[in-house]
Amino acid sequence: MKRFFAMVLTLSMLLCGCEPKPLERTFFTMNTVMQFKIWGKDADNGYGRIITKLQELESSWSATSEDSILWQLNNGNTIFQLEPGQAALLDKAETLSQRTGGAFNPKMRCLSEAWGFYNEQHRVPTQEEIDAAMADPQWDLGGALKGYAGQKCAELLTDLKIDRALLNLGGNVQTYGEKPDGTPWQVGIQNPDGGNYVGIVSVTGTMSVVTSGDYQRYFEVDGVRYHHILDPETGYPADSGLRSVTVICADGMTADCLSTALFVMGLEEAAEFWRQNGGFEAVFLLSDGSIYATR
Ligand code: AMP
Ligand code: MG
Repeated sequence: MKRFFAMVLTLSMLLCGCEPKPLERTFFTMNTVMQFKIWGKDADNGYGRIITKLQELESSWSATSEDSILWQLNNGNTIFQLEPGQAALLDKAETLSQRTGGAFNPKMRCLSEAWGFYNEQHRVPTQEEIDAAMADPQWDLGGALKGYAGQKCAELLTDLKIDRALLNLGGNVQTYGEKPDGTPWQVGIQNPDGGNYVGIVSVTGTMSVVTSGDYQRYFEVDGVRYHHILDPETGYPADSGLRSVTVICADGMTADCLSTALFVMGLEEAAEFWRQNGGFEAVFLLSDGSIYATR
């Protein structure tokens, strides 16, 4: 009987050519606009749980809020216990930092602050200020958190047995499940100069597609662009010949850390890193307009 109803439902969907409609919502958190499409009868509940999770992550890991765990780690003089999941997150950030030879460095809070990226009071710091900031390693998970958050949301949706979802966390895309019509999810790669997408990445199932680019946060002085992805070796915005790196990986936090790290490395070193390590795919947009992609 159940099967009969399922057939009738499928047939009527085919006849009217309509697909089930997702719940669509936009929400501002983690300093960015997030857009959610969630399919399934429990979509409302899924959305509510996602928002709670994201707000929880923001309040725990904000580099600027004095109530956050991160603030305590950086400035506090009290001893407190991290929950296992929190310790695991910091541990993973450290591991990815080591794996990328320090190109991903989650302890450059002071350096980002020196460039004014926290309070949007942008300025070019003096060499002395850069040296002082680099000598004071303080946690900042800005290069990892949105990817991690996408991954956590996907885990939540799995627990709730939600059918499928497409989550856009400020340009970092998390796909979840299969698309209603069975075709791959299509994720656009932004043109750094604005306008149309430069390409589309097709992914199936649950995947993170994360982009780091020099156009996302920057300021200009005397015609020079200073962006927010900093080279841990020089203390200056990474000047690697890249405009953006998109990483596609099943693990969201890895995708986020790697997009930042590969941007710092530049194409040659990043390609070598991919050959040696694998486990992800990437698309590179170069300053000269050319585009490179892994398999
Ligand atoms: P993303 O947009 O993911 O590349 O992350 C950039 C953010 O991560 C910046 O706004 C900083 O908060 C932080 N960040 C900047 N440079 C680095 C770096 N080399 N490694 C890790 N985090 C960084
Ligand atoms: Mg990143």
